[in-house]
Amino acid sequence: MKLPASLLDTLHATFGPGACFTDEAERIAYAYDNSRRNALPDAVVFAQEHAQIETLVRACREHRVPVIARGRGTNTTGATVPVDGGVVVSFERMNRILRIDPDNRLAVIEPGVLNGDLQRALAPHGFFWPPDPTSSPWCSIGGNLACNSAGPRTVKYGSPRENTLGLRAVAGTGEGFRCGTYTSKGATGYDLTRLLIGSEGTLALITEATLKLTPKPSGLRTLRATYRDVSSAAHAVARIMAQPVTPCALEFIDDVALKLAHDHGGDNVPLAGAMLMIEVDGEPDTLPSAVDAVSRAARGDGLEELRIAQTAEETQALWSARKALSPAQRTISPNKINEDVVVPVSHLPELVEGIRQLSKKHDVLVVTFGHAGNGNLHVNLLPRDEAERERAHACLAEVFALVISLQGTLSGEHGIGLVKREFMPLALEANTLSLMRNVKAAFDPDGILNPGKLLP
Ligand SMILES: Cc1cc2nc3c(=O)[nH]c(=O)nc-3n(C[C@H](O)[C@H](O)[C@H](O)COP(=O)(O)OP(=O)(O)OC[C@H]3O[C@@H](n4cnc5c(N)ncnc54)[C@H](O)[C@@H]3O)c2cc1C
Repeated sequence: MKLPASLLDTLHATFGPGACFTDEAERIAYAYDNSRRNALPDAVVFAQEHAQIETLVRACREHRVPVIARGRGTNTTGATVPVDGGVVVSFERMNRILRIDPDNRLAVIEPGVLNGDLQRALAPHGFFWPPDPTSSPWCSIGGNLACNSAGPRTVKYGSPRENTLGLRAVAGTGEGFRCGTYTSKGATGYDLTRLLIGSEGTLALITEATLKLTPKPSGLRTLRATYRDVSSAAHAVARIMAQPVTPCALEFIDDVALKLAHDHGGDNVPLAGAMLMIEVDGEPDTLPSAVDAVSRAARGDGLEELRIAQTAEETQALWSARKALSPAQRTISPNKINEDVVVPVSHLPELVEGIRQLSKKHDVLVVTFGHAGNGNLHVNLLPRDEAERERAHACLAEVFALVISLQGTLSGEHGIGLVKREFMPLALEANTLSLMRNVKAAFDPDGILNPGKLLP
């Protein structure tokens, strides 16, 4: 698509030199994301103010040109790939922390602030923002909100939906609006804040967020439990979640993943049927009883070893298996298919067993690990050649069907983007999808915001 000259004039006038590019070299850099899909945008602009976004969206709407919001492009689903061309608006320069307000336990930020930078700025105040994707040093809060991204701490502290008070945004009409509150309670109309969170830039562009902060506990203990097999570990997860002490991390790693991490990550990684990493936090005097409670629940049929780290170095060593996983997988399959399905915690044993059978049936290596306390597992299919790739795709469709049959859903934190939207009818009834389409039309009547994403 070639952009109309009047639209190009508006883009140059609004963003100025150094913040509006149409050369191919710059456009290529914004054509792809961590999904490794790509499509060239027609222009790339770098926003710094809310008013620029209103002007941009109004002008693009007039010409029916797509607008694709972009944080740092670390999403795994192709959510920022401009499949129909158009203008990519990068928020990486709109990255000020506007206010940290410990008395009201909130922070007001621009969307381009990196998750890791925010956590560093909050630490001296004794607070943190709970969503903690592993990509925290490189991903933006705008991206976290748009994908409802999370990490290990979600099991205790929730995802962005539970940790955001309000937003400022621009709808597909070009109209700016605020939603939510600056208060920790609110019962004033529809909850548009939660609606926009997880909407992947398809309803509105977020230009400011009021985040709910949590006091950082001063103590943390890490435990590592190894089990005879995946089923005993999955049953232990259900036991841990059925008692009153909620861990702040409860991560599962299957035997295939442990072997992979062992081969690539060194001797620290145990070889076992499965492993759980468990963390509890709180004030130091409460920790011994919390450790006792989760240890009791972790013990049971199939437990082989339970280790409790006594020092920071030991904690680091216990986490080494988890950290070695991602790089290890890439060495086997640069084309890994990385899913993040969720089931109710009590169905985890059936999920891990079912995935094991599907891996055998389709003869594809599948590595399973993830945030078991939420029933959220990263199911990674690792095809090594074209034939295996085809089998992996057939296997994936059956994995999703299994998840839905267990009352689960397609994604716990990565979102739908481009790569999973065709599976949406598996997870949602036609009536629900139709309501979602109506919501999309209310925010974005001409369908210019991130077309080709989320809705099938
Ligand atoms: C090594 C690695 C580890 C990862 N670990 C995790 C993990 O543990 N947990 C997890 O959940 N994810 C993880 N991810 C995925 C990814 O980091 C998250 O999805 C992250 O939130 C994306 O942030 P981003 O700034 O890169 O957003 P982008 O990838 O640029 O965008 C993601 C989506 O947000 C939209 N968007 C961005 N900014 C705005 C805005 N201002 N307004 C409206 N829409 C917007 C985009 O249009 C797109 O739909 C990981 C990725 C990598 C590469």
